Amino acid sequence: MESFFNSSAVQPAATYAQLFEIAKQQHNMSTMESLWQAHYAYWGNDTLATGIMAFVAHELIYFGRCIPWIIADALPIIFRKYKIQEKKSPSVNDQWTCIKYILAIHFIIELPLIVLFHPMMELCGLSYTLPFPQLRTIAAQIVTFFLVEDTYHYWLHRAMHWGPLYRSIHRIHHQYAAPFGLTAEYASPWETLLLGFGTIGPPLVMGLITGEVHLMTVLVWMTLRQIQAIDAHSGYDFPWSLRRIVPFWGGADWHDDHHRYFVGNYSSSFKHWDVLMGTVAGPRGKATKRKA
Ligand SMILES: [Zn+2]
Ligand SMILES: [Zn+2]
Repeated sequence: MESFFNSSAVQPAATYAQLFEIAKQQHNMSTMESLWQAHYAYWGNDTLATGIMAFVAHELIYFGRCIPWIIADALPIIFRKYKIQEKKSPSVNDQWTCIKYILAIHFIIELPLIVLFHPMMELCGLSYTLPFPQLRTIAAQIVTFFLVEDTYHYWLHRAMHWGPLYRSIHRIHHQYAAPFGLTAEYASPWETLLLGFGTIGPPLVMGLITGEVHLMTVLVWMTLRQIQAIDAHSGYDFPWSLRRIVPFWGGADWHDDHHRYFVGNYSSSFKHWDVLMGTVAGPRGKATKRKA
């Protein structure tokens, strides 16, 4: 399939830079939009272009976001005071085992799904043409995705703590009782597929219903969701952590208790489901129940 960006005016061996210059000459286009057009024109195959962009972004964001947490673990003299389970730091061996496992999951499970994303999104009526949607549309849709994913994650994750599902699927993710950034996606391939649907499903379903979801919105959503998952597993809670500004945001403080006490705090981003369903983990949960 050809790219929807007509590149017939461009010589076949045009470089990214040349394509970017051509795109820039078009009026009313932001730098990001020019880059987007140049990217699709360069690859000349939209499925490939979307797949490469999403996969490279996924790797850069995942490992890029883990680097600050690896540095924090390597400098306990500065960061130990912010560590939630301060006596349990991951060893270099733990981090290395995790990196190898995550790379295998990314290449064997996630890469084929990412390549399939383009035809799936076209089927569901998502768009990837220019211009990008307005910022407020992107923001409103992402807030919806966060709420839907959190609900899906709460119930499915809670179900995964049921004996047979735990033993066959979820046990791998609980190998570390004191999580660290890299463990965000340390999970069975089945868990990656099942829980991952909570991230990929909402934009596709919203696209089917409204016909107004753009690939750019999906990429921003996936970026934020990845950062949320990595930060929730970081094992660090700072005076400036998001959960101190947004009181219903869970963050590392919340998810660390899930790994530490094993029961409770099943949601991904927010606290409301656990509070409503009486599944707050650890001493905090007991205190809430006493108060009630
Ligand atoms: Zn769990
Ligand atoms: Zn976890």
